[in-house]
Amino acid sequence: MKKRKLVMIPGPTPVVRSIQDQMGRETVAFGDPGFVKDFSELIEDLKTIWKTKGEVFVVAGTGTMAMEMAIANTLKSGDNLLIVSHGFFGDRFIEIAERKGINVDIIKAEWGKIVPVAEIERKLKDRKYQAITVTHVDTSTGVKAPIEEIGEMMKNFPDTIYIVDGVCSTAGELEYIDDMNIDILLTGSQKAFGVAPGIGIVWAGPKALDRRASLGRIPEYYIDFDKWLPIMKDPTKYYATPAVNMIWAMKESVRLIKEEGLENRYKRHKKNALAMQAALEAMGFRLLAEEGHRAVTLSNAIYPEGIDDLEFRKTLAEEGAVVAGGLGAYAGKMFRIGHMGNVDVHDLVGAITAIERTMDRLNPNYEVGKGITTLLNELS
Ligand code: PMP
Repeated sequence: MKKRKLVMIPGPTPVVRSIQDQMGRETVAFGDPGFVKDFSELIEDLKTIWKTKGEVFVVAGTGTMAMEMAIANTLKSGDNLLIVSHGFFGDRFIEIAERKGINVDIIKAEWGKIVPVAEIERKLKDRKYQAITVTHVDTSTGVKAPIEEIGEMMKNFPDTIYIVDGVCSTAGELEYIDDMNIDILLTGSQKAFGVAPGIGIVWAGPKALDRRASLGRIPEYYIDFDKWLPIMKDPTKYYATPAVNMIWAMKESVRLIKEEGLENRYKRHKKNALAMQAALEAMGFRLLAEEGHRAVTLSNAIYPEGIDDLEFRKTLAEEGAVVAGGLGAYAGKMFRIGHMGNVDVHDLVGAITAIERTMDRLNPNYEVGKGITTLLNELS
């Protein structure tokens, strides 16, 4: 019999049946009145739930496209960008910006730690930056940046656009755009929204839209806010073909989020994360992210002595769960497990027990049961 495999990588995350059904629907013309209504409602919901007086762009592409869209619409060649990096995905902004002739300064945290807000503030006082990027949750480290505190501090720098990468956080970690003084929030469909990969989402607050207007004609075509804005305001218009079924899938994801409530969703993520993280520690793993700065969307677990990465992940896959390996200096030393989006308790129990069976196979002295007992205690 074909074994079920739990996809517990940090994106794509498990896609529930009702979202799959939307992707499997018969595709209609993008001018179909029913589709136009659905697309308009999705756009309105995204603006209302994440609270912005600005706009949202829902465009076929991935998180990287959304990152590039944020940069391309707020900065021009010769501008200065401050990149606050908590890992691999924070660093991704460097090349995106450099290729556009933007001057880049980087403040990097040691992997697992955060860059203190005061350090960011000092840097902003030293030099005029047209924008700053912060990755809310860097998937490579499992570190959560204090985006609300940074947003508060950013009030002292009204000419700097505050860009937040929410690819591994939005819809799992709490984010409110205008309330947190965020100018651009960007994300993708495949993580805490629990949709398959394929949609990039970029919210732009009023200040970001003013900045776009001040840039005039930009050298980008597909990702230009000005090209998409008429479609976001009136989806009967055409610019580039919308990903009809993916937009339906996003709409169903947002319907589930509304049904649950974003605050409740955040609480659920937090509870699940604390349980998963406690279970991982009970099984002998060490979490890369420092306590107090741990994401609720995923956990980055460093192997105990004697566990080989490839053997662990291969055995775990045989036991029915797929996780991701470490990145950068942590390749071979750590695995990453997602617990965001529409994962439920069955997924968490399934993943932890699969890890228990794996550890039991790899380590003769392993005491089976510590992980699952801890998980269940934390969840109860
Ligand atoms: N930013 C973060 C924080 C991410 O985790 C990822 C993907 N893992 C990206 C950006 C890039 O997104 P994508 O792979 O969808 O292009």
